[in-house]
Amino acid sequence: MSTDFDHIVIGAGISGLGAAHFSARRGLSTLVLEASDRVGGCLNSPHFAALDNFWVEAGGHTCFNSYGNLLTILDDLGLTAQAQAKVKVGYSLWKGGKRRSIVSALHIFEALRSIPRLFTAPKDGRSVADYYGSVLGQRNYRDLLRHAFAAVICQPADDYPTEALFRRKPRRKDMIKAFTFAEGLATIAEAIAAQPAITVRTSQRISGIVSDGDGFRVEIENGDTLRCGHLTLAVPPDIAASLLPAGFETAQMLVKNIGMAEIETLVLVFRAADVALKPLAGLIAVDDAFYSAVSRDFLPDDRYRGFAFHFRPGVLCEEAQIEHACAVLNVSPQRIAAHTQIHNRLPALRFGHVDVVQQLDAALAGKRLGVTGNWFFGVSIEDALTRSQAEVTRLFGD
Ligand SMILES: Cc1cc2nc3c(=O)[nH]c(=O)nc-3n(C[C@H](O)[C@H](O)[C@H](O)COP(=O)(O)OP(=O)(O)OC[C@H]3O[C@@H](n4cnc5c(N)ncnc54)[C@H](O)[C@@H]3O)c2cc1C
Repeated sequence: MSTDFDHIVIGAGISGLGAAHFSARRGLSTLVLEASDRVGGCLNSPHFAALDNFWVEAGGHTCFNSYGNLLTILDDLGLTAQAQAKVKVGYSLWKGGKRRSIVSALHIFEALRSIPRLFTAPKDGRSVADYYGSVLGQRNYRDLLRHAFAAVICQPADDYPTEALFRRKPRRKDMIKAFTFAEGLATIAEAIAAQPAITVRTSQRISGIVSDGDGFRVEIENGDTLRCGHLTLAVPPDIAASLLPAGFETAQMLVKNIGMAEIETLVLVFRAADVALKPLAGLIAVDDAFYSAVSRDFLPDDRYRGFAFHFRPGVLCEEAQIEHACAVLNVSPQRIAAHTQIHNRLPALRFGHVDVVQQLDAALAGKRLGVTGNWFFGVSIEDALTRSQAEVTRLFGD
């Protein structure tokens, strides 16, 4: 079969761009096809041209020095030295219509009694509620941890598999512990996509894939088709299930049962003088219409302050979200300098997910099709890149 590219990657989030990077470094002709008009997926730092290009993170906001695969990519791109340390500002709770300290929700004696279990209790195969309720105490879980975890993954966290929430990774000591970039994390996606060795085409929604002899035929919604020898799906699981071609029925059956959480993100920007609130990293909401709010205060700006509120889906209409977020920040909606609404999606992993991944890997073994995403090891940027690295190695060798 004559091919247009050695390797086509579908989806230009960090998983797909990472897979493309690792493949292009092996000298393979690599194409990334992305449905939306920009690259980055959940790495999305909207800039406001009318406000001196001030930006806010609408999705991922922090990278850590434990993100080994990401740091390798940043090294390859010559970007590592441009990483910016995040200013240390703390999170607060938003509970019962008031801002409160995190410590106010902590049951210290219960935590002290339970903590020894932190070093002995096995994590694997347990839900977040089960594991953390046991190692830090049921009341600490109920009043603090379940809200903090829901704030991180923007969805109810009780049934989430513990091993997928925080995975211990070695830290690179020569690197800032928590970092971003002067123009936000979208910088990373844009820099990977800008490499001459990778072709990226946006506004290309894939509608079908046919397993064709030794490779694949990729059908784009606009009627175009492309051929490749190897293919990687780097899209959310519901999309992956719909795209897996004939011959991959077992994989399709496994993937279609993985749920997705929908998140209605509201980004608000104000003139700094209009917000009296002390600088903060963000808010962890307790039983509210939003899971969390993340501020831009980690990279302070004299002129503007920005906040991304991550709302539960279908609870408040756009107008009510704006009013609620402004009430939480204690700023009049009339003081909004700019705002935008973004639909984020994250996988809703459940107990038993590790087994699903093992079965999926068995179904993909020996095939020329890779499947990556933030729904294998966990949702972090590094979890996604760890999967992409492993899939590219499986397809093309070391
Ligand atoms: C609010 C929020 C805060 C977060 N904070 C952090 C953080 O601080 N640190 C951290 O490490 N992680 C964080 N994360 C998680 C992390 O950002 C994401 O898990 C990761 O960026 C997801 O990358 P991905 O490529 O797997 O998926 P996505 O980013 O979802 O990319 C999938 C891409 O596939 C495209 N696509 C879908 N269908 C098609 C199709 N048919 N054809 C072609 N393309 C298609 C989509 O348009 C999208 O661009 C956060 C996530 C969110 C939502």
